[in-house]
Amino acid sequence: MLVTPSCLKVTIVPIHLSSVSRRQFLTQSAAALASVSVLRVGFAAEASEVTTLALVSDTHVPKTTDTTARGVNMTDNLNRVVRQINALETKPAAVLFNGDCAYLKGLPEDYANFANSVQPLIDAEQQLHMTMGNHDNIPNFYNALTAQRPEKPLVASKHVTVLETPHANLFLLDSLMKTDIVTGELGEAQLKWLAETLDARADKPAIVMAHHTLHMEPIEVGKTIGGIADTAEFLKVLHARPQVKAYVFGHSHVWAHTKDGDLDLINLPACAYVFNEAQPNGWTLARLSKSGIEFELQAHDKSHKNHKQVFAVNW
Ligand SMILES: [Zn+2]
Repeated sequence: MLVTPSCLKVTIVPIHLSSVSRRQFLTQSAAALASVSVLRVGFAAEASEVTTLALVSDTHVPKTTDTTARGVNMTDNLNRVVRQINALETKPAAVLFNGDCAYLKGLPEDYANFANSVQPLIDAEQQLHMTMGNHDNIPNFYNALTAQRPEKPLVASKHVTVLETPHANLFLLDSLMKTDIVTGELGEAQLKWLAETLDARADKPAIVMAHHTLHMEPIEVGKTIGGIADTAEFLKVLHARPQVKAYVFGHSHVWAHTKDGDLDLINLPACAYVFNEAQPNGWTLARLSKSGIEFELQAHDKSHKNHKQVFAVNW
């Protein structure tokens, strides 16, 4: 990602800077920009235009390119998506990987393979962001994708990012509790930061994204929680802020659109394998405009009945 913001058609500016220092900042090399955790993307296009984002969840990339699981070669699936994103007529403002980048244990070799697969996106000057899933490992991830390591984390020991776009702000959270343990957790510090960060950006619609599903059922002692353990506290933060329009997640390897009250819940499909044969795997093209966000399924199987299905969240 050693390119200038103008080549990227994406403006990357830390929002706390004055306009003078912003100009100075823009003259610096993009190498320094990569480690900033609050970014502005999509502003180079006309404000009336649509900002597109490529969303890729649950890639589960293993250490060797020939490893398969559930009849799927995960590396091949990611490579196919990378080619499709690079072939898009409109270059997305950013490519977001929503967790479980690595196969199961977040091994250094998994991330080496993952980094190799996404290199064509970097070569094409695409801007990449990742969230962490239950099969990820933050230190190993940072070691393989060094540009992703923030100079100053927004939340201690968590990989979180804020993306400001012309029509909405995106909050990329970290629900990884412990590598290879299915349960997710946001934690008190991250939720406090999220509440404050949302309050500081109450003027624009907000899309919140993390790897894990919500855990809506009552918590039962001795029963494993497959989603976010502190869902109740998380939903309290989201529901108290009317600018929050949608929660976007992966983890279940299911493509679905449901609601919790006024909040839209968008379940991104897995890029890797499915747990239910009826489900599509693939990725999602998102289009942000002044009136909402659309999510369009890009199924690997172009003959799947849900290929190109659009879930719309309007505001
Ligand atoms: Zn997964």
